[in-house]
Amino acid sequence: SRLRDIVPCDNAVVTVLDRAAPKMAKIYTMLTGEDESITKRIKIDRDLELMFKDAQAGIFLDQDKPPDFCRALIHDGAKSMFCVPIIKGKQLYGVLTLGYLQSLELGSELMHQASEVCGRLALAMATVERDEQLYHQAHFDNLTGLANRQLFAQRLELEIRRAARDRGTLALLFIDLDNFKIINDVRGHSAGDELIRKVAGRLSERVRDSDLISRLGGDEFTILLSSIEGEEDAGRIAKEILESLQKPFTIDGSQHFISASIGVTLFPGDGGSVEELLRNADTAMYRAKEAGRDQCMFFQEEMNLAAVRRVKLESQLRVVVESNGMKLHFQPLLDSQTLEVVGAEALMRWPVSSERGTSPDEFIPVAEETGLIVPLGYAALNEACRAMIAWRTKGIELESIAVNVSPRQFNEPGFVNEVLAILDRHKLDPRFLELEITESLLLEEVQRIKMVLEELCRHEIRLAIDDFGTGYSALGYLRRYPVQTIKIDRSFVHEIDRAETPQKLTRAIIAMSHGLGKRVVAEGVENQRQYEVLAAQGCDLVQGHLFSHAMPIDTFASYARKQNGKVMMKALVAGDK
Ligand code: C2E
Ligand code: CA
Ligand code: CA
Repeated sequence: SRLRDIVPCDNAVVTVLDRAAPKMAKIYTMLTGEDESITKRIKIDRDLELMFKDAQAGIFLDQDKPPDFCRALIHDGAKSMFCVPIIKGKQLYGVLTLGYLQSLELGSELMHQASEVCGRLALAMATVERDEQLYHQAHFDNLTGLANRQLFAQRLELEIRRAARDRGTLALLFIDLDNFKIINDVRGHSAGDELIRKVAGRLSERVRDSDLISRLGGDEFTILLSSIEGEEDAGRIAKEILESLQKPFTIDGSQHFISASIGVTLFPGDGGSVEELLRNADTAMYRAKEAGRDQCMFFQEEMNLAAVRRVKLESQLRVVVESNGMKLHFQPLLDSQTLEVVGAEALMRWPVSSERGTSPDEFIPVAEETGLIVPLGYAALNEACRAMIAWRTKGIELESIAVNVSPRQFNEPGFVNEVLAILDRHKLDPRFLELEITESLLLEEVQRIKMVLEELCRHEIRLAIDDFGTGYSALGYLRRYPVQTIKIDRSFVHEIDRAETPQKLTRAIIAMSHGLGKRVVAEGVENQRQYEVLAAQGCDLVQGHLFSHAMPIDTFASYARKQNGKVMMKALVAGDK
């Protein structure tokens, strides 16, 4: 409305092209004697780019065939019209049209003013457009075009307030794809991206326009259901989503299957704030994963107690790592025929000062997930080597000390070098060290694992397969990898004194391992009968509560001395006879 103050004219129209819908524009028309402009949306009836191609300074319009956007000026009595493009760089944002009630030749002064106004308009429009782009980038996910975490949180906040006022119910679905990492690792990131995009598409088909789907990042999505009757509705939609993902996805011409785990929280029952609802939905999603994936789980308060304990454990674990406070105990491995102590397994023990005994089965998985297992594992290795040397100076000569290595630690770059450095620090011959690894590790990225195993073998470090029989038992790897020892899992040993089948299994494992030139350890031997069966089957070493629990370093030394003394006495007695 201030246009007439800047550049003289009787009426005028500003045409602003719609960037999202080509051929459409918004026009702001200012008629003679009016102070307010009229706004309208119209279809552009000619190619503006072409019209101004060689006339950036502006053109006089033909009265007979005027473009649609300035028809109103003619109705208003304009006899001549001057059109100036609103351009910045190569970008045409629109057109400014000035109308005059008399036919006139425009002076160069006027033309200059008009083009200056357009320059300013173009600058303003470019700024607005840039702001819109920034808004979009800040609120939408680049890959899928879905809302991002920030927009999602804003909307959820709004919906919470509305639901609180109207006493309504909201549901929040937290969706995480199962085993997405495998596709990313095996097929590459672009295939992973493609899958994410397609999953986003399927999710969008499933929900109403009023529901907001967003991608929080990675393979995590959320859906906000803003008007539901109750739990059943949320459960039904979650189920539909799981079903919709069951059809294969075609990526690069090959088919992929993927499933998801979904956690659900409801407002107001499961939380009153954005953070609380999201956190609880995330917890429920984890439970769905733990329960076997490809399913939906509603949040329950008990889940929080477990989660709280976990968080506490994690922070305690950090303190333990920083203060190097983790303890190491040693469980003896005995020769099954002579009952002489020939080896030890190093096992981590939570420092006593803490509350009720936290077992490795509880803290090792947390250490795994947080990566704290890496420093803990090296500390254990260091302590174990130290113990071995300490025992030797006391005259207790073991064949080997076994140390557990978590897959995470094993996969650390520089793992072998670190192990060698620790051995060197204690001047311990590598042949005395046995690293226990799990079966599942051998199924991962075959090539790299094989290289690390061979490198360890080249340095004469021994390897044992722990918990044998619980993993995938792909027997091929027994032949393929340089492993010296097989440890039969304690779940087999557990039933050996009661049933036939486990006995057959252990016999088969022992025969097979011996056939491949490997020694066999049975762990978890708890009673005499179990021991007798294993000894009769020719199992080389036995380990378990029947003989001893894991003990501190000095207790172990006394135990070994006493036990091996007994063995010597027996041998002497036998020799006398
Ligand atoms: P694992 O490597 O299979 O260790 C053997 C487990 O069996 C130990 O449990 C040991 O105390 C227990 N055990 C020994 N004899 C008997 C028995 O007669 N009956 C029964 N029921 N159990 C017996 P622990 O010490 O609780 O360790 C549990 C798991 O934690 C270990 O299983 C291992 O996977 C992990 N772990 C322990 N220490 C370390 C470590 O230093 N590094 C890593 N990466 N993992 C460790
Ligand atoms: Ca072990
Ligand atoms: Ca084991």
